[in-house]
Amino acid sequence: MIPQWVIEKKRDGGALDEAEIRAFVAGFTEGTIPDYQMSALAMAIFFRGMTPEETAVLTDAMMRSGDLVTFDAWPRPTADKHSTGGVGDKLSLMIAPLAASAGLAVPMISGRGLGITGGTLDKLETIPGYNTRLSVEAFKRVIAEVGCSIIGQTERLAPADKKLYALRDVTGTVPSIPLITASIMSKKLAEGAETLVFDVKCGRGAFMQTQANARLLAQSLTRVGRALNRKTVALITDMEQPLGRTAGNVVEVREAIETLKGGGPADTRYLTIELTAQMTVLGGTHPDLATARAELARRLDDGRALDVFRRMIAAHGGDSRVVDDAQRFPQPGATVEVPAPASGTVAGVDAQTLGRIVLQLGGGRKTTADAIDPAAGIDRLVQAGETVEAGQPLMRLLAKDKALARSLAAEAASAVRITQKPVLARRLILETILGKE
Ligand code: URA
Repeated sequence: MIPQWVIEKKRDGGALDEAEIRAFVAGFTEGTIPDYQMSALAMAIFFRGMTPEETAVLTDAMMRSGDLVTFDAWPRPTADKHSTGGVGDKLSLMIAPLAASAGLAVPMISGRGLGITGGTLDKLETIPGYNTRLSVEAFKRVIAEVGCSIIGQTERLAPADKKLYALRDVTGTVPSIPLITASIMSKKLAEGAETLVFDVKCGRGAFMQTQANARLLAQSLTRVGRALNRKTVALITDMEQPLGRTAGNVVEVREAIETLKGGGPADTRYLTIELTAQMTVLGGTHPDLATARAELARRLDDGRALDVFRRMIAAHGGDSRVVDDAQRFPQPGATVEVPAPASGTVAGVDAQTLGRIVLQLGGGRKTTADAIDPAAGIDRLVQAGETVEAGQPLMRLLAKDKALARSLAAEAASAVRITQKPVLARRLILETILGKE
């Protein structure tokens, strides 16, 4: 295989064959194909796209660039959920233990937050002692004992993606549907789950801002899943507004615990149940969505999902007493309430603006090397459809000091639109894309 011929073929709109794609990915992973040739191919793919068959081969080659976790002969079906990320998206924290409590084994490999979207690993690491860097053996042991485990990507899992993502980040080639598909799926498939449910977020607080683009990504993910023999479904869900009443790390874990205790905001509970129901039906532990929903609601209300969460924390070396004692979490240096400028009904809350506020409060990172303040963020956030009186708090800002929080209060207030007109109920699930389509 001559790398420049492969680049030229894609540049001119051709479809690459399986051997070309596999040899290119292998050469890039080993270092015999230099970064500049991989960057050129990524740019050619960005402009010319890939067929579903090419995307599936690229995904498979990237998945096989490192170790594969296998769960052969396990007594439980394996399933996972992947979200493309959003503001206040703490769903993995509830879904993994809820799905495990309902009979699935959940091997979940998660990422860190970057830009305005938070990351599950940063959230879990606010729990004192929680170790996100388990070996693959320990990961499998925790899943066998508890039913679920959430860890970070290891060096040996889909290393081609790690290398390629770093290049895409600096060569303007991130927003390409085939490259995003191969990136997400290679990691998810390497972790070994037979069933994958995708939560493709759509709106101002998400990576995919329009429904048309979110649909293209959802179709691509489910198609590749099917080509590689996984059961998949994708829900396109609203991310115009943040999910729940919190955005930040400690505050989101606290809201997740509330939801696992049967409470929590209605939107958060609803999506937790819907996504987990899809996992259980596809995974085969429940016969249909209606049965699954009712059963999962009971497991949130009677503490069975919470019990799995507690055990998962302990199995990762964490202090599970945080579940009943929030003082054990890192605490913010200061809190500042943001008052409503007028009375009325909340028409909407802009997820993008609030994501940027969380970042500036210290709760997110601009580059992968940045440190975060785990206690920084937003809580007690109003939601669309609620009425507010002038002067009443719209949200609370949490930061290391009052000056920082106060400096962001006016911008935070501007994220909440208040109207005198009736407000239509928010649709949370915009579309369901079945892996069969
Ligand atoms: N998330 C990933 O893991 N990869 C991408 O390319 C985009 C989002």
